[in-house]
Amino acid sequence: MSPISTDLDRVRHPSEPTGALVLFSGGQDSATTLAWALNHYERVETIGFDYGQRHAVELECRLKVLDALRTQFTDWSKRLGDDHLLDLGILGQISETAMTREQAIVFEKSGLPSTFVPGRNLLFFMLAAAVAYRRGMSVLVGGMCETDYSGYPDCRDNTLKALQVAVSLGLDAPMVVQTPLMWLTKSQTWTLAQELGGSALVELIRTQTHTCYLGDRSTLHDWGYGCGKCPACELRSSGYLDYIGAKT
Ligand code: ZN
Repeated sequence: MSPISTDLDRVRHPSEPTGALVLFSGGQDSATTLAWALNHYERVETIGFDYGQRHAVELECRLKVLDALRTQFTDWSKRLGDDHLLDLGILGQISETAMTREQAIVFEKSGLPSTFVPGRNLLFFMLAAAVAYRRGMSVLVGGMCETDYSGYPDCRDNTLKALQVAVSLGLDAPMVVQTPLMWLTKSQTWTLAQELGGSALVELIRTQTHTCYLGDRSTLHDWGYGCGKCPACELRSSGYLDYIGAKT
């Protein structure tokens, strides 16, 4: 496998950061984001969070994806460093949501789905910043997206730009937040995976990442595992169909 991007060979400014910490949940978006970061940075570490999510199977998937990246993608394996898994049981304790409880996934009066965990991404980035600071890294990379998304306000570009400023001020050290998928459709995210790591990466993401809110991995569809009905599965499956349609 050889990435087609020329980023690995580009000339780097002396003051440009060389290390990045990727928020890696084990889903399609964060796996594609991780591949992007491995193409851009010489040292990449990953962080994940166990917050009592119903789809805790994603925590197993993330380890399988990391293992595959280390063994199948030799250009990236030497760049891929430590993985950090933080126990955020406290978030599950304070979240009465369909993401952390056996509740139906519906749209609330606010217009947001009942899977919205208030403050989740803000907390994730804050903790990631603390880990990055301690590890000597100044870039945080997340797979948040404002194009095909569930409407979570903490995925929005302006939320994360504001967070970047607040974190950088609070640490008194620059902490850059990067979101390479922010303006991509789900179909374009599959295309990006193809460009970054070819068919091998697309197949790894299709079969090993997890997106379904219900944690269903009983059936492998064309677009991956999932119940096929929850909002996350609908986004993933329609994006994959668009991607395949655009290729043919
Ligand atoms: Zn599902």
